[in-house]
Amino acid sequence: MSNPRPDWPQATTAAEIADNLAAVRARIADACARAGRAPSSVRLLPVSKTVDEARLRLAWQAGCHELGENKVQEAQAKADAMADLGIRWSVIGHLQTNKARDVARFASEFQALDSLRVAEALDRRLTLEQRTLDVFVQVNTSGEASKYGLDPIEVADFLHQLPAFTRLRVRGLMTLALFSPDPDQVRPCFVRLRDLRDRLRPTLPAGIALDELSMGMSGDFEIAIEEGATVVRIGQAIFGARATPDSHYWPTPDPALQQ
Ligand SMILES: *Cc1c(COP(=O)(O)O)cnc(C)c1O
Repeated sequence: MSNPRPDWPQATTAAEIADNLAAVRARIADACARAGRAPSSVRLLPVSKTVDEARLRLAWQAGCHELGENKVQEAQAKADAMADLGIRWSVIGHLQTNKARDVARFASEFQALDSLRVAEALDRRLTLEQRTLDVFVQVNTSGEASKYGLDPIEVADFLHQLPAFTRLRVRGLMTLALFSPDPDQVRPCFVRLRDLRDRLRPTLPAGIALDELSMGMSGDFEIAIEEGATVVRIGQAIFGARATPDSHYWPTPDPALQQ
C-alpha cells in the first residue's frame, strides 16, 4: 500500500497561511460535529519546525500566537528572535536533561515528559527562573519500540511521582499515533490514550489533572478529535510540506514494516 499523504503546498504569504488555518479550523469543526463536541473544546497548536522567522511573523499576523517546536535549540533561537511578538512556545519533542535550563527559560509548555530525570531537571531550573511550566506526559500508544514515551502500564506510577515537582503543572497526556494511511491502524492509538486517561482519572494524586489529550497531526487530526483530542499539533497542513524527513524528529520504525 502506498502512502497517500495529501500534497501540502507551501504557504508563503500571510493570506495563504490564514487560508490554511481557516481550512484546518473548518475540518476541526466538522470532526467535532461528527463527535458531538464543541469546536471550542479543541485547541489548535500550530507546529513551526523548519519554518523560518519571516514566515512565522506572517503566521503571527494570520493569528498564530502560540507555536510548537520539536527541537529546543530551534525553538529557543526563534523565541529570542521574535521576543517582541510575545508568542507562547510549546516544546513538543523529546528533551535531554542538559536542555532543561533552556526550556525553563522560554517555554510555556512541554508536551513530551517521559522521565523523572527530566521532570527533576525542569523543576530545579524552573525554581531558579521563578517560573512554572504546563506539561503533558508522553505515552507510547503504538507499541513501536522506537517511539518515545512511557509504556501505558508505567503511567500511573509515573504520575504519582510528579507532585514532588511543584513547578510542573500537569495538564494531560500526549501521544503520536502509528504513522499509517490506514485509519484502522491509527485510531486504536488514540483510543488507547483516551482509555488510559479515563482509567487513571479517579486515582490521580492531588494537584495532577489529566484534562487534556494532545493527539493528532496534519495527517490524522480528524480521527484524533473523533476519539477525544483536546489539543491537535499541526504543522504541514498550515505551513506546507516539510523537506526534512520525520526521522529527524523521532526515531522511525524499520521502513520494511511501514507498508
Ligand atoms: C512535527 C510534529 C507535529 C506536526 O506534524 P505535521 O505533520 O507537520 O502536522 C506534531 N507532533 C510532533 C511531536 C511533531 O514533532
